[in-house]
Parts: sequence; structure tokens; C-alpha cells
Amino acid sequence: MNQRHDIGRRTLLRDGSLVLTATAIAPSLLMERQAFADNSANAVRIGLVTDLHYADKPPAGSRHYRETLDKLEAASQQFASDQPDFLVELGDLIDAADSVEVEQRYLKTINTNFAAICDERHYVLGNHCVDTLTKQEFLAGVEKEHSYYSFDREGIHFIVLDSCFRSDGKSYGRRNFHWTDANVSAEELEWLRGDLKSSSKPTVVFAHQRLDVSNHHGVKNNAEVRKAFEESGNVLAVFQGHSHQNDLKEIGGIHYCTLAAMVEGSGLQSNGYCVMDIQPDGTIKIAGFARQASYQWDV
Ligand SMILES: [Zn+2]
Repeated sequence: MNQRHDIGRRTLLRDGSLVLTATAIAPSLLMERQAFADNSANAVRIGLVTDLHYADKPPAGSRHYRETLDKLEAASQQFASDQPDFLVELGDLIDAADSVEVEQRYLKTINTNFAAICDERHYVLGNHCVDTLTKQEFLAGVEKEHSYYSFDREGIHFIVLDSCFRSDGKSYGRRNFHWTDANVSAEELEWLRGDLKSSSKPTVVFAHQRLDVSNHHGVKNNAEVRKAFEESGNVLAVFQGHSHQNDLKEIGGIHYCTLAAMVEGSGLQSNGYCVMDIQPDGTIKIAGFARQASYQWDV
């Protein structure tokens, strides 16, 4: 099945219309897809982890903070054999240390191990990342400049979102927020709409707080974010963490996949991480390890 036909099927599902022809696709999109199809792009392979909550402290409830180091080591062996193009960490890399100095030490420890796995890495900000640190301190610790941005790889468009903003638009940082008050800021939302408009490539989004639920784990203004995704017509899937358990919803033809937290449970059988392959036609296959579920979605 060619690219044009695949996109047509997605449009069909979105609109709920029984009639579809190539003319239903905007000319610019069609041209881009055609060019993309001619480029014989390769599949993109991504290693995914979330909610590591690393801290050198005893377990609390089901969270085994110190064991994250061993679990990440196990994941790194799998990644070494699968050779992902890049890694994405979906937030809460660290937990919430009592002092900035201690937190920076924990961040350095976990990120040194994480950075050794793969040269290219992307970090989604989690609420815990900026519980003790400021955004600037966290980003400096992982050698990144921006908390939200996009990039292209092999004909796929990727977006990293930051939902660590309070309802009043102020950035989270240094215990100035309540974790249930998660928002995509007005400025970021405007950027997102423009970014989605500027690309006609199949798009995959990475987030921490959930964009598919309206409970405490959900981003408060996630309906606006989903609307932007749906209007673009290009978003295939959203990957998120935050609620620590496997979950999958489909809203407006887009998969919202929540990944298992690495920090949950003792022993390597409780680990959670996955390797995702995105084919040029938008087919997504996720190989989950330990507690992480596996999925395969055709376009
Ligand atoms: Zn978490």
C-alpha cells in the first residue's frame, strides 16, 4: 500500500466519512507525502524509558529508587543489542531530593549512566525533575537548551512537549507548584499549532503528564492540545508517563500510550522499557520488556 493510500485511510477514519478520494488531501500534504515516499526513508528505532525517579534513598511503597540503576543497566544491554537511533526519557528522571546540591548529584549519577547508552537523547520534563531543581538547572544537567521542541528523523516528525506549567502560566520549579496543576502554556500551545502546521510528515509526540485523561494525572488543558493534534491530521501517536502503569487509549484516531514506570517494583522482573520501530508508512511496533506492554499499530 503506498503512502497516499495510507494517509487516505487515516483521513477516512478521522472524518468518519465513507467517501474518500485523493482530492480530499490538501495538495501540499500530497506533494510532501509523495516526495517522502520517493525518498525510500528507513525505519526509525527509538529506545524509550520513563519515570526512573532515581534517588539514593530507601524504597517508599512500591517505588524502589536505588534499583533504578540496575534496571537502567538491564535496559542498556537490550538497547546495545537493538541499536536505537536515539533514546527518549519521558520524565521524572529523578525524584525530589531535600537539597539542590543532593538533587544535582543524583541527576549526574543517573544521567551519566543514561548518556552512556546512546549519543542522541531526548528528555521530557516531568514534575519530579523540577520539584527541587529549576527548569534551567535540570536542562543544564542533561545538556539541553529547550523544554519543548521538535525535530525530524527519516521522514518522521517528533515533538517533545513540556506540561510543567501552572494554570497561571508560570513554569514549575523549586516546589512552587502542585503536581495536579499541569498545563501546556499559552505560548507553547501557540508554538505547537505553528509547528504542526509547518510539517506534513507523520508525527509522534512525547509528553510526561497525560494528554488523554481528565483526572489528576491529566494535563488540565489537554483538550486544546488534542484538538491541535487532530486538526493537523498528522499525529500518529503520543507517548507519555506519569501514571506509572501501562495504558492505551485511542482518541480522534490517535494512540495515547502510557508506559510503565521503571521505578515501580523490586527486581528486574519489575523493570519497564521498550524499543519502538516506526516504519516510513507510519506503522509503529513497540517491543516491551519486563512489565512494559508490547503493541503494533498499522496506519
Ligand atoms: Zn513518576
